Amino acid sequence: VRARVMQVDRSPSVTYSDIGGITDQIEEVRETVEMPLKSPEMFGDVGIEPPAGVLLYGPPGTGKTMLAKAVANQTDATFIKMAGSELVHKFIGEGAKLVRDLFELARQHQPAVIFIDEIDAIAAKRTDSKTSGDAEVQRTMMQLLAEMDGFEDRGDIRIIAATNRFDMLDRAILRPGRFDRLIEVPKPNGDGREQIFKIHTRSMNVTDDVDFGALADMVEEASGADIKAICTEAGMFAIRDDRTEVKMEDFENAHAKIQQEETDDEVSRT
Ligand code: ATP
Repeated sequence: VRARVMQVDRSPSVTYSDIGGITDQIEEVRETVEMPLKSPEMFGDVGIEPPAGVLLYGPPGTGKTMLAKAVANQTDATFIKMAGSELVHKFIGEGAKLVRDLFELARQHQPAVIFIDEIDAIAAKRTDSKTSGDAEVQRTMMQLLAEMDGFEDRGDIRIIAATNRFDMLDRAILRPGRFDRLIEVPKPNGDGREQIFKIHTRSMNVTDDVDFGALADMVEEASGADIKAICTEAGMFAIRDDRTEVKMEDFENAHAKIQQEETDDEVSRT
């Protein structure tokens, strides 16, 4: 059970330079997670407590997981990921125990970065319904809060949580000593999109006519994950055409194809 809910990566390979368009967020994460791991004595000398936990919130596919992995990489920490939704939906009755196991695992693998994705699944606002599912979710959240509150010497373990549904969160998890640093990770702006296109084509063989600024303008609402998908699809167009170089036109076709698929998806859902 544990192995399926928790993913452990002893040395993640993502670096800050793989993440485009969210420079300020990278800076904040470095200050709140990296610094306490690398130089805990700085905080002691000054006489302040580093933030207990950091909450990243924003739309899907904007780089939240990447950020958490990059900090773990930068600090030579073990990266331990747990998905809130999996925890609650797949293993009814196990939630609280899994949370205990998670922190135990982190203690055994210090320094460690615990990443709890989709935290809204275990930390949603209380609803009125009294279904057993809700009680189970409550117990899981209480255990998480207990682990965080009881974290006297947090030393070499840092906690990062992520959500796409900030509005749904129970405010109890945002109290001081818990997730008391909030970092919004938005969709990239034009410059960010351009940067992300450059990152994802770094190892691609692209022709000189590929205009990254124009690509950024073409995909106005795209997230980083969307841009990555377009780059891969552009490569597929080149392969289908038996070429080893990827042209501007391939990116345009890839964008059109992905947009069409999204439209088809929406139609089939209605
Ligand atoms: P979710 O909320 O869906 O879990 P997330 O914000 O955690 O999403 P990631 O898992 O970090 O998103 O991103 C998914 C993939 O999209 C990454 O592996 C990467 O390839 C690409 N990507 C997303 N954001 C960026 C970014 N800012 N720069 C470069 N690549 C990005």
